[in-house]
Amino acid sequence: MRTQIAIIGSGPSGLLLGQLLTGAGIDNVILDRVGKDYILGRVRAGVLEEGTVRLLEEAKSAGRLHAEGLPHDGFSLAFDGRDHRIDLHGLTGGKRVTVYGQTEVTRDLMVAREASGRLTIYDAANVTPHDFNGAPYVTYERDGVAHRIDCDFIAGCDGFHGASRRAVPEKAIRTFEKVYPFGWLGLLADVAPVNHELIYANHPRGFALCSMRSATRSRYYIQCSLDEKVEDWSDDRFWDELRRRLPAHHAEALKTAPSFEKSIAPLRSFVAEPMRFGRLFLVGDAAHIVPPTGAKGLNLAASDVHYLFEGLSEFYCDRSSASIDAYSQKALARVWKAVRFSWWMTTMMHRFPDTGDFDQKIQEAELDYLTHSRAASTALAENYVGLPF
Ligand SMILES: Cc1cc2nc3c(=O)[nH]c(=O)nc-3n(C[C@H](O)[C@H](O)[C@H](O)COP(=O)(O)OP(=O)(O)OC[C@H]3O[C@@H](n4cnc5c(N)ncnc54)[C@H](O)[C@@H]3O)c2cc1C
Repeated sequence: MRTQIAIIGSGPSGLLLGQLLTGAGIDNVILDRVGKDYILGRVRAGVLEEGTVRLLEEAKSAGRLHAEGLPHDGFSLAFDGRDHRIDLHGLTGGKRVTVYGQTEVTRDLMVAREASGRLTIYDAANVTPHDFNGAPYVTYERDGVAHRIDCDFIAGCDGFHGASRRAVPEKAIRTFEKVYPFGWLGLLADVAPVNHELIYANHPRGFALCSMRSATRSRYYIQCSLDEKVEDWSDDRFWDELRRRLPAHHAEALKTAPSFEKSIAPLRSFVAEPMRFGRLFLVGDAAHIVPPTGAKGLNLAASDVHYLFEGLSEFYCDRSSASIDAYSQKALARVWKAVRFSWWMTTMMHRFPDTGDFDQKIQEAELDYLTHSRAASTALAENYVGLPF
């Protein structure tokens, strides 16, 4: 088989890139090691920047997002027992974010892909990129039979644990990593959110986040130790701990329901440089990971896709490789700013193992400054709604 672009990974970045390429008449095949239902069962991000929404519109996959997504003009920073609203809309000259689950984004992109008739190969084992400094091709196995796809370029959209980054010789890649000494215990329940906007809470017992997927589905997180086991957290224990970390009026208003998903996610910052190796490009989580505190992971995947799509369209339409050559540099400039922002929010909002009373007071002073200085609030808002691309 031959295609122009072999896309490894059918997560948001692979599917979005596939849709944009298809719209521009560029042939592509997507491969994933797991099946559709497994991918749709993953509960992950939920806050979309305007740039991400714009790309989904361009990919003709934003109909349901506009009908069901929740536009948010602000969020709350809760500390010292009180709420402090960050007015995203007012501080950024009219920008906002949209709350719409990653699962739904993925589902919409899958529906659009099926309608386009382009090939997606699910349950492909041992997917491997080859010869990306020469004539690239991808091999895989399905039902025990070996296959090969020849292509012009390979897009490695296969997440942090994928095969694409691992295929790059060690001496050609540099990685930067910070692992945080805690995780997030997340719970999903069909119950109305405690607040119409997100609440990021800094509390001496640890961080908490009140988020949502819709007006009737809530996503809550509490910071936990990496030694914790999900089995030890009954719903009641989770709700009690969440209440303790919220200002009293939210704790009293919190409605609970049986959870239908509960999991612990470790927090990590990771960047691989460069993001291009000959005719192989790394995209999204394959190249970088951020802690979810700033809601940047999915949005960064989208901006990588934008830069790569721009480069590939120019290559095929204008016979110019200038944008492809600039891909890694352009993407990384934005990636590092989001890595910084996510690290900063994580550092300001969480209790670290060595956080003492002094450090807690410093965090609260920073939060107080942040919420009372228009300049500081604006810097936060500008990063939260997403830097331009
Ligand atoms: C538990 C969790 C919670 C998160 N919460 C948030 C959040 O609240 N906010 C936020 O912004 N971000 C969050 N993220 C990050 C966000 O989900 C990711 O940034 C986003 O999924 C990146 O999309 P992607 O397509 O690049 O990678 P992925 O979504 O990881 O998709 C990669 C795809 O490649 C496939 N694949 C992997 N290996 C191979 C292989 N060898 N061969 C073929 N296919 C392969 C996988 O099956 C998968 O379908 C979270 C991530 C995790 C893991």
